[in-house]
Amino acid sequence: MSHIIEFRDVTKVFSGRAGTVTAVDHVDLSVEEGEIFAVIGYSGAGKSTLVRLINGLERVTSGALIVDGEDVVRMSESQLERKRRDIGMIFQQFNLFRSRTVAGNVAFPLKVAGWPRDKRDARVAELLDFVGLLDRAHSYPEQLSGGQKQRVGIARALAAGPKILLADESTSALDPETTQDVLRLLKKVNRELGVTVVVITHELEIVRALADRVAILESGRVVESGTVFETFSKPASEVGRRFVSTVLHDQPRGDDLARIRQAHPGRIVTATIHDGSRLGAVLAGAGAHGVTFEIVYGGIGTLQARSFGSLTLELTGPAPAVDRVVADLRGVTEIEEVA
Ligand code: ADP
Repeated sequence: MSHIIEFRDVTKVFSGRAGTVTAVDHVDLSVEEGEIFAVIGYSGAGKSTLVRLINGLERVTSGALIVDGEDVVRMSESQLERKRRDIGMIFQQFNLFRSRTVAGNVAFPLKVAGWPRDKRDARVAELLDFVGLLDRAHSYPEQLSGGQKQRVGIARALAAGPKILLADESTSALDPETTQDVLRLLKKVNRELGVTVVVITHELEIVRALADRVAILESGRVVESGTVFETFSKPASEVGRRFVSTVLHDQPRGDDLARIRQAHPGRIVTATIHDGSRLGAVLAGAGAHGVTFEIVYGGIGTLQARSFGSLTLELTGPAPAVDRVVADLRGVTEIEEVA
């Protein structure tokens, strides 16, 4: 695989009257050609800035940023303008021309790029068909729903056949269901057209379902990055753990935890489950040590085509025997003590 986007020690500082803000802080990160790369993090973490550096909407303060073989840091504004034809971007507020029809909006970048009329019309029809809006070609933006407007935005961003599509859905004006539709369309763009997609989103369910890899940002730094499976199954950072626990709902917290504690006086541990963790075999042998177990909480689902989840168990028996079973469990998977 080759890197289509590579951040090398990239920093972006905004200076204003109120002082300076380091929005992106010494970031090293690469996006592979043909993947869907998700950027997540709390508000103000630097996600939008990071993505806007890629197409030069914000200029890098220091470091190198290689996009499809060229360092955008060294480019002049006119070179960047040319470069942006290879990088589509969709905006949260859609930025459509109200006075132009759907077809007119999609045709606009082609007109600017000097495409002849007949080629342009054919391309617009192809794009509208792709995003499922062929029957709305002659409508005006105000006649469309938010989701449809975003589809027009996607068709327009794809018009000139970019290699990269940047999508900032983080403060999306769309309801969650429509956002999911839009993100599903991004998957189609990626799989059918081979376009590399970089998406900022708050919909972690979508990251889990659609993205190949993910980076988690905090205060301008990448606190972790990796495949969605790695990150969701074993988050390395505190922020990562907080994000993941909101999606998986497979570990008892808060009231659930209090209820479990009250109802189950034995030792309580949570075991991570994944393909090949031989938890059943260990539990089947627990009785021989005089230990009984109860499953008190948990959930197992699919993550990137593999089983993944966790089970919370209450183990009851003489303390040394329970220790022994917990040690055996640790031998096959990750075990977390539940306080
Ligand atoms: P996110 O997308 O994760 O919410 P942003 O990239 O929008 O984060 O912002 C990161 C930080 O940079 C914030 O502290 C924000 O206030 C600051 N910032 C973003 N854009 C500008 C700007 N044009 N001028 C000054 N500060 C900015």
